[in-house]
Amino acid sequence: MHLSRLVVHESVGKAMPVESLVESLADLPVPVETAAGDPELGPGDAVAAFGPRPGFRDADWVHCIRAGYDEFPVAEYEAAGTALTNSTGIHGTTVGETALGGMLALARRLHVYRDAQRESRWHDEPYETPFTLSGERLCVVGLGTLGRGIAERADALGMDVVGVRRSGESVPGVRRVYRPDDLHEAIADARFVALATPLTDETRGLIGEAELRAMPDDAYLVNVARGAVVDEEALQQALAEEWIAGAMLDTFVEEPLPADSPLWEYDEVLVTPHSAAMTNRYHEDIADLLRQNVERLRADESMVNRVA
Ligand code: NAD
Repeated sequence: MHLSRLVVHESVGKAMPVESLVESLADLPVPVETAAGDPELGPGDAVAAFGPRPGFRDADWVHCIRAGYDEFPVAEYEAAGTALTNSTGIHGTTVGETALGGMLALARRLHVYRDAQRESRWHDEPYETPFTLSGERLCVVGLGTLGRGIAERADALGMDVVGVRRSGESVPGVRRVYRPDDLHEAIADARFVALATPLTDETRGLIGEAELRAMPDDAYLVNVARGAVVDEEALQQALAEEWIAGAMLDTFVEEPLPADSPLWEYDEVLVTPHSAAMTNRYHEDIADLLRQNVERLRADESMVNRVA
C-alpha cells in the first residue's frame, strides 16, 4: 500500500477535538486533511474515523479510533481489500482507573454522599453498608488491555482478583484464571464482576438471567465493555428484584441511554456516558498509533491492530 494522504474524519470529534488530533499528526510524512460527511476517497487514502461509512471502503486503510470495532462490517472490508485497524492497547489506564473509581465509589459510598450533598444533607450510611475493596473478590471477564488494566489496579488495592480468559493462561495480578465454560464458577463468589470483552457473537448476552442469578446478592456488575454483552432486560429485573446489589455501567444497548430507561433510577447504579476511556490526551494516543502504522507501511511491515 502506498499512502498519499490521511483524512481525519469529523466523526473523531465525538472523542477528541479534531484539530488536536490533526496538530499531533503534523510530523506525519503524508499530508493530513480533515473531511466531513462522505468524502471522495480512493487508492492511497487512509481515513481515521469514529465509526464506519460505506464510502470509507474506497480508501486503502481505515483506522477506527475506538477499541471496539463491532459497528464495522469487517467481512465487507476484507472483500474490498481495505485495511481496517482499531485502537486497542491504549485504554488500560483510562478504563482501568474509571472502573476502579466506580468500584471505590460503590464500596466507600461516595455516590450516596454526593447525592446527599446536592440536598445539603448530612447523611450517615447504615453501619453494615460501607466496605473496603481490599479483600473483596473481583472477577474480570476478558483479560486483554482493559481487563488487565482493571485487574492490575484491583490487585494493587488488595482485591482478590480472578478472571475469565479463553486460553485459561495465567495473567499477572490475577490469582486464578477460568475458561469461559466455567464462567458461573468464576462469578459465584465475586463481589464485583467486571466485563472487558469485545462484543462478538460469542459475547452478546454473555451476562443474562442465569449469570445474574449466579452472582451473590451483594455483588456489583461493572460493564465497561459494550452494552449488549449484558442482557439489559435481565439486568433490570436483577436490579429490581435485588438478585445483585447494583452496577457501574458505562455502556448500554442504546446510547445515549434513553431518558425513560429504568437504569437511571437506581441509587446503587452508577451511570457514566460511555466515557470510561475519555482523557485529555486521547488525541496523542491515537496519533501515536496512526504514526506507528504509517511508519510500518513505509517500511513494508505489517500494521499493528489490524482487524481486516
Ligand atoms: P483487547 O482485544 O485488548 O481485549 C479483549 C479481550 O477479550 C481479549 O483478550 C480476548 O481474547 C478476550 N475475549 C474475547 N471473547 C472472550 C470471551 N468470550 N470470554 C473471555 N474473554 C474473551 O480489547 P480491549 O482494548 O481490552 O477492549 C475490549 C473491549 O472493550 C472493546 O472491544 C470495546 O468494545 C470495549 N471498550 C470500551 C471502552 C469504553 O470506553 N467503555 C474503551 C475501550 C474498549
